[in-house]
Amino acid sequence: MSEVTSLIADIREQILFLQELGVEALDVRLAEQSGDQRIKIEKAERVAAPVSSFEKALPPVPLEFPKRAAEAPKRGGSRISAMPSLKTRTPTMAAKSENMPKPTVVTLAEESILLNVAPTLAATADTIESIHAEIGDCTRCKLSKLGRTQVVHTTGNFQTDLMFVGEAPGADEDLHGFPFVGRAGRLLTDIITAMGFEREQVCIGNINRCRPPENRKPEPNETAACRPFLLREIAVIRPRVIVVLGATAAHNLLQISTPISKLRGNFQDYFGVKVMPTFHPAYLLRDPHKKKDVWEDMKKVRDYLVAK
Ligand code: SF4
Repeated sequence: MSEVTSLIADIREQILFLQELGVEALDVRLAEQSGDQRIKIEKAERVAAPVSSFEKALPPVPLEFPKRAAEAPKRGGSRISAMPSLKTRTPTMAAKSENMPKPTVVTLAEESILLNVAPTLAATADTIESIHAEIGDCTRCKLSKLGRTQVVHTTGNFQTDLMFVGEAPGADEDLHGFPFVGRAGRLLTDIITAMGFEREQVCIGNINRCRPPENRKPEPNETAACRPFLLREIAVIRPRVIVVLGATAAHNLLQISTPISKLRGNFQDYFGVKVMPTFHPAYLLRDPHKKKDVWEDMKKVRDYLVAK
């Protein structure tokens, strides 16, 4: 029965994306019957449901990440437990971190190279709180002097299996202090929801934590100054999948320069963590036709995460 349910869900997804493309009817041949069967995609149904294409693909109940076969040591609580409230996250972290152990330098590849095995994330004594406290009122790059309102940290569920990484905060993020809260952020929430998860189940960050002026691309020396903090967070969180949103995030995390149009849709590796490059939600707002590509990428991520 579950196979039938799964088949129906797949067919439904395909029809929804055909609708997205503007297809209203399909000609199909059914082996058991003579003649063509015409499947009508009802326009009225689309008009009656004024929600995004991602929301239309929403499964009936939120999915849960299955337990890992070999779990990394837990840092307390379920990986899918509700994340701390966005409103209460930042102010308490600096205070909490005063008694935290000193963060150690994470040498991600050393151990793996010595043991001649595939590189994996090294153990770390860091905590998210200690990393954020160390960043403090950061002035390590010139973005600190170019009009930022505040440092925008990675936020969400730090016990998660699924992490999203973008380029840098925009105006809304700079104002509110959280990543992906503007129009692009709402679209990212739609994408997460359509995957069957809730935004509170994942964590979201950026390569750079301060807004570049005029939303320009961060310069190499700026990403070089900020990126290590994200890498240390990844070593703490140890997600199973990182979705990198846009070329800048993909290139900075993976240290490659392949165009995002060629990278997207194919799992990459970051020290044993699956990395799925895809288009940035802001790009989808400019070119909605690319939504179907992102959805194909997200289905691969979802299927990987829910696979037993
Ligand atoms: S972008 Fe990163 S390194 Fe630069 S000032 Fe902000 S927090 Fe510091």
